[in-house]
Amino acid sequence: MIKPPKPGNEAQRLDALQRLDILDTQSEAAFDDLALIAAAVCDTPTALVSLIDAERQWFKARVGLDVSETSRDISFCGHAILQPQAVMVVPDALLDERFHDNPLVTAAPHIRFYAGAPLSDHDGLAMGTLCVLDTQPRSLDSRQIAGMQALARRASQAMQMRLASRELSLQMRERQWYEQQLEAYQQQLEDANAELTEQTRTDVLTGLPNRRAFTAALSQALERAVGNGMSLAVALLDVDHFKIINDLHGHDEGDRVLLALARMLNAQLAGNGLAARYGGEEFVLLIPEVGSDAARLQCEFIRQNVATLPLGLPITVSIGLAYYRRGDSAEQLLKRADLALYQAKGHGRDQVREG
Ligand code: GH3
Ligand code: MG
Ligand code: MG
Repeated sequence: MIKPPKPGNEAQRLDALQRLDILDTQSEAAFDDLALIAAAVCDTPTALVSLIDAERQWFKARVGLDVSETSRDISFCGHAILQPQAVMVVPDALLDERFHDNPLVTAAPHIRFYAGAPLSDHDGLAMGTLCVLDTQPRSLDSRQIAGMQALARRASQAMQMRLASRELSLQMRERQWYEQQLEAYQQQLEDANAELTEQTRTDVLTGLPNRRAFTAALSQALERAVGNGMSLAVALLDVDHFKIINDLHGHDEGDRVLLALARMLNAQLAGNGLAARYGGEEFVLLIPEVGSDAARLQCEFIRQNVATLPLGLPITVSIGLAYYRRGDSAEQLLKRADLALYQAKGHGRDQVREG
């Protein structure tokens, strides 16, 4: 027997075969069907789609044969790919010097007849064959040979399509991955922005809304009050003699007082109204939709509550309260609250005054 020599373009051919990424893959209907049709067209018990790897032939599809590969040295297809344009026909292997003592001929599967049509890629490199085998010597007529060539072209096309669709799905997955990354990045940006916005609206020490956030909330509340004719009150609350607390007990202790006050105010206003840090040791309260008596009572309640806060220090606050009057701007309303606070301070502190 004669071992099939390697074609001149072997290295290039193997590269192309690797790129097809088809060796040792699962069977696929597109190739199985072609093998079935080839066996039917040529009326042989066996048909294969065989690919010639460096040292073996591997079968992508097989009809009537159990093995999935053989050594390239004893392959018929190794010879067939040497002439990529022609169908290689071996009418009787026993009479062919290349195959007469080939173990595939002398033992199972006892090949006597072989016809292989090479499968070429678009560069004309032969990857393998579509072949038919029989245990009897025989021949093919010209229509059968033309049929084999047509089927081989379909098999070559199927290999290219397969590659193209795999590349496409890879690109789609890559694109999906990039889109996911982009989405995650945008989300991060949005989160960061939301956090930044939150930071610009929140007082760092107390966690209460800051003056800017309060101003925004107040103008919204005023718009609503204009719209529905509901009442609205604003109270400015200032810690009495806070400078002394700082001076006597230290700035940290002062901070602790501000934090405790903030918590208490927040709890008092929770669900109905808003407590914010107006600046320094001054807080501002938005008391919506209650009558003037109720607002005043709430401020009184808060003032008394401050005095009983378990801080270990005698703390009092002065509160200036102003009620919304039709046509008021936010500035006018706050101005009246500030004047009332000034009066509370002037009249001895630790009290609520209305403006
Ligand atoms: P009054 O009763 O007239 O309001 O007197 P006061 O001492 O409270 O008023 P003043 O405006 O003279 O002093 C306020 C002090 O509050 C001065 C400032 O150092 C202090 N202060 C402002 N912000 C903070 C803060 O965040 N933490 C602390 N510990 N002190 C603060
Ligand atoms: Mg003050
Ligand atoms: Mg003060």
